[in-house]
Amino acid sequence: MEKKSHYRVIILGSGPAGLTAAIYAARANLEPLVVEGSQPGGQLTITTDVENYPGFPKGILGPELMEEFKKQAERFGTKSVFGDVKSVKLKQRPFQVVVGKESYTCDALIIASGASAKLLGLESERKLMGYGVSACATCDGFFFKDKEVIVIGGGDTAMEEALFLTKYATKVTIVHRRNELRASKIMQDRAKKNPKISFIWDSVVDEIYGEPKEGGVKGARLKNVKTGATQDFQCDGVFMAIGHEPNTKLFAGQLEMDETGYLITHQGTATNVPGVFACGDVQDHIYRQAVTAAGTGCMAAIDAERFLESQEA
Ligand code: NDP
Repeated sequence: MEKKSHYRVIILGSGPAGLTAAIYAARANLEPLVVEGSQPGGQLTITTDVENYPGFPKGILGPELMEEFKKQAERFGTKSVFGDVKSVKLKQRPFQVVVGKESYTCDALIIASGASAKLLGLESERKLMGYGVSACATCDGFFFKDKEVIVIGGGDTAMEEALFLTKYATKVTIVHRRNELRASKIMQDRAKKNPKISFIWDSVVDEIYGEPKEGGVKGARLKNVKTGATQDFQCDGVFMAIGHEPNTKLFAGQLEMDETGYLITHQGTATNVPGVFACGDVQDHIYRQAVTAAGTGCMAAIDAERFLESQEA
């Protein structure tokens, strides 16, 4: 069978935005191709319980929810390829999308490449990533059974990661750069009530100690941002939970972005290039919820369908 290389619609990303776009595009008979990216299912696959996705009053596991999205997209004829996009060319249509060694073209492109966890940027953090430094408690928490860990950040992610880690660790310390949390009240309360969780306020990590080997992390140097005082803090793991950055490097110089790299959309999901649409966290730094990502994914598919129709008219 000859391999298809041209698609009416290609969707980059397989989180709630990308797969919702796929469901809508597939039901419009556009036979979309989804490029899944290096984390198929997106950020929800590295969370545990999703309690706020409407329609699941008892909650649902993130990976399970994404599996359901995928089945629904496939039911209507969506095709998927695994892998990261190497390059895109958006100067002329059909647009070109290179995935590994394969090159595809499309008449309309929907970008749903999401966002990734931010890191502190320390050399020791880079060196110890995977050896006790992590940005995903649900992926790595299991390795910290009966150990002591710190979680950096003051948002919902930090609270969620800390709470999850209490299933394994004996002690979880949240290190936050201010003396007030950004997290929602309900998450704050849960963390504050948990006897295994304590807080160190007004502090940042400016060095992580250890060697890049199994069980490598030995501790971290904490700096009080108000007094400048430092302390060495013993721990076996350091979890980063300081927010996210959009996955938009591929589009630099081709699509309009704001100063933090989020794609700018106009009138729904249109980017500055006609025929290229963006949805989900790659263009939303405010809401960043699965349900809002899914909502904009639906919008992007409808926008792409209307664009294609206007080209045929
Ligand atoms: P946020 O941007 O909300 O929080 C990031 C936290 O990290 C802030 O407390 C920030 O400090 C801190 N921070 C940022 N940069 C640094 C740095 N360089 N050094 C030290 N600390 C730093 O991101 P989240 O990932 O927590 O949440 C993103 C969105 O997802 C939110 O809308 C959140 O509500 C949602 N979410 C919801 C969940 C749920 O409902 N179950 C679970 C997870 C996320 P500061 O406060 O000083 O800015």
